[in-house]
Amino acid sequence: MENCLFCKIIKQEIPSFKVYENKHVYAFLDINAATKYHTLVIPKNHSENSFDANENDLSEVIKAVSKIMDHYKKNLGIHDIQIINSNGEIAQQDIFHTHYHIVPRYAADGKNIERNQARVPDEELEQCRSNIWTIE
Ligand SMILES: [Zn+2]
Repeated sequence: MENCLFCKIIKQEIPSFKVYENKHVYAFLDINAATKYHTLVIPKNHSENSFDANENDLSEVIKAVSKIMDHYKKNLGIHDIQIINSNGEIAQQDIFHTHYHIVPRYAADGKNIERNQARVPDEELEQCRSNIWTIE
């Protein structure tokens, strides 16, 4: 896509620190890294986010994520990693080209994602479950 930052990176119109590439995906170091070796994996076909991306592109991205994680574990000794994929502005998506973050985690890195510590009442979970209906 014309004015997409990540499409420009794929076309090498903008330089990047590539860590992996195949026919379907491109992976590079995040220049605004949350932690050391923070990596982005993107499909080469432009899609806005995971809602918009086709199944094959998402499948190829996840395969690459897995391959890169294994490589980081084996070669860098990184055993703790978060995978983050944001879809939409409220979900903190910043670049509107599908991307998955591989965020290695280190002891006391101060990047903890907060979860609600209180147990959600069963009635509330049941209401959510019934609203979801059946996924086919
Ligand atoms: Zn793009």
